[in-house]
Amino acid sequence: MNPISPALARARAALLASWMQPTSAQNIWDMRKVIIACLLPASTLRARLMRCGTRSGNNYKRFDCNSPACPVCAQRKASRFSYQRSHFSPPKPSPFVYGSRRHVPKVTWAWSLADCCWATIITNLHTDIPLGAAENRRQQRALKHVIRGLTGPNFIITVQAARDIEVIEPADLNLLSPTKQALLMSLGFPVNHAGPVYVFHWHLLVDLNGIHIDTFKAALRARWGLGNRQVHVIPVSKRSHVPRLTVYQTKVRMTKEPAVGGRRQWLPPHIVRDLAEGLHSLGPRWRRFSVRL
Ligand SMILES: [Zn+2]
Repeated sequence: MNPISPALARARAALLASWMQPTSAQNIWDMRKVIIACLLPASTLRARLMRCGTRSGNNYKRFDCNSPACPVCAQRKASRFSYQRSHFSPPKPSPFVYGSRRHVPKVTWAWSLADCCWATIITNLHTDIPLGAAENRRQQRALKHVIRGLTGPNFIITVQAARDIEVIEPADLNLLSPTKQALLMSLGFPVNHAGPVYVFHWHLLVDLNGIHIDTFKAALRARWGLGNRQVHVIPVSKRSHVPRLTVYQTKVRMTKEPAVGGRRQWLPPHIVRDLAEGLHSLGPRWRRFSVRL
């Protein structure tokens, strides 16, 4: 039994085709629509995403789907993590950002984060989302170990991290930059695999608490240091906007490299579907973790 009529299916396909244009605005609400259009009619994730943001007729309470595949919920959660809103005072950094601050800096929109750094670590790649996610989770223990090696009795390092997946199709491998190709090959990229390959990585916002950034970088490279791009550490400058960083950390990305005309392209609909369902299967708490030692 076909649950949708041919006319509706045609209209949906036409709508999807217009959304999948690389030039279409890729805001989070459009992106949620694209994901919904790519999912199968019977999918429970599709029903949740369609309900997300609607209000109940009884008490006007909003329903948030909280799925790691929902770009709207991801952004809402990210801004809640990065600052606390209050009716009586200007926004201030939340405990998420300053879990262990000895000194809370002056409240401005661009908080001074002299002692923080931003790190990206590519942990592993896999053709299966749940198996790759399990390996990614195992490597968290190694991260904890590295940080324990740096901390002493009188100071702590706080890491607020987000897990992320980038999709690479083997057919696109030759279009990527040589550095990235070399990195993927060193991680054992399955060149002859027919489907998409999922690259698992972390984005870390680190409160170094006096540890020199080069010491931290060296410790990470000692564990994950196959290539220059596998561990990327930069200081968080005074001008960095913490809410923007945390939004970037938890983004749901359904686009791929290489960019065409300065824009990343949408993934094909069946891959958007697989990625969204895969993310959803990992549970609402999958996206974030923290290390404090
Ligand atoms: Zn949602």
